[in-house]
Amino acid sequence: MAPELALARGRWVKLICGASNHDLAAIEDLCALYSLVGVDCIDVAADPAAVAAARRGIAWAETHSQQGQLEEHPQGFQPPWLMVSFSDGDDPHFRKASFDPRLCPSDCPRPCQRVCPALAIGAVGGVEPDRCYGCGRCRPACPLGLIEERQTVFSAEAVPALLAELRPDAVEIHTRIGRGRAFGLRLQQVLASGVPLRRLAVSCGLERDGPGPASARQLAAELWHRFALLRQAGLRPLWQLDGRPMSGDVGVGTARAAVALLQAVRPWAPPGPLQLAGGTNGASLALLPDHSGAAGVAFGGMARSLLQPLLLEAEARGVPLREQVDLRRQALGLAHGLVAPWRQRRWLELGSAAPSS
Ligand code: SF4
Ligand code: SF4
Repeated sequence: MAPELALARGRWVKLICGASNHDLAAIEDLCALYSLVGVDCIDVAADPAAVAAARRGIAWAETHSQQGQLEEHPQGFQPPWLMVSFSDGDDPHFRKASFDPRLCPSDCPRPCQRVCPALAIGAVGGVEPDRCYGCGRCRPACPLGLIEERQTVFSAEAVPALLAELRPDAVEIHTRIGRGRAFGLRLQQVLASGVPLRRLAVSCGLERDGPGPASARQLAAELWHRFALLRQAGLRPLWQLDGRPMSGDVGVGTARAAVALLQAVRPWAPPGPLQLAGGTNGASLALLPDHSGAAGVAFGGMARSLLQPLLLEAEARGVPLREQVDLRRQALGLAHGLVAPWRQRRWLELGSAAPSS
């Protein structure tokens, strides 16, 4: 199914590899396997090496879909859109943790290692930067406060040239309530690249630069502001409602937060597809009421952690996961289990307010 059609039918599924994930081997495997089970879009770091790894993975999937018979591609392989992400200010998705292991006491039981979902902290040494995706869990775990965070900041000058080099199908801008001006500036930089985009995704939750969370109505008002800018620029929006950013995406509770945000924003939202994110997992679809208006979902931490044990096993064997028949079969089964319910979703669940833009 073409990605635009998937959006219109409420069957859109995006894989989030992570805006600060630079684990190239894992990115290539994730993109290969999730492309094969039919995701519509893959969101990777705005980085030449990460984009190249994603493209290799998608090309691998295309080759293997032609060799096989996969039900996900009955009309032939439909490559997912490639999306890259920027932010218009401080944002946890663009940070990485680090510490100097020489400062750690030798008898430290390494609670930082235990809480890291990306296995970026081993039994010795510091943070493996390629694996860290900035979830922030390790920082409060260190009793000595040794762990620091660094943000990746894209300068105004760098964005147009970077995009012209990467040539993605879509761009996402992570924004916050109260950052309308910064969003407008970032958008200008994206436009200056001259790269034609199928969609401009706007990722936003209830956090704001200021005290306390905002209301759903305030969030909708901010989205209308972004909508006006996108319309002026001739870009089609995709609203990514970030229910619980960097939540780890495992429990039903986090899935509820994403669904609740979408339901709360929908009555006031501007035109364009509304997509769940932040806390999404295998429970998300069942939590959506009929006629929810959700055009689709983005899976991040959940999609990655599902395959993580197999990725580690492949790494131990020294052969990419996608190239090992036994592990690949297991991985495709897990990925299919997450994606397929959305691909098979009934029209009824989208409701009458289909995305119009
Ligand atoms: S816990 Fe999160 S922030 Fe810390 S190293 Fe692991 S992935 Fe990075
Ligand atoms: S918890 Fe702190 S002191 Fe202990 S290993 Fe981790 S960074 Fe070092």
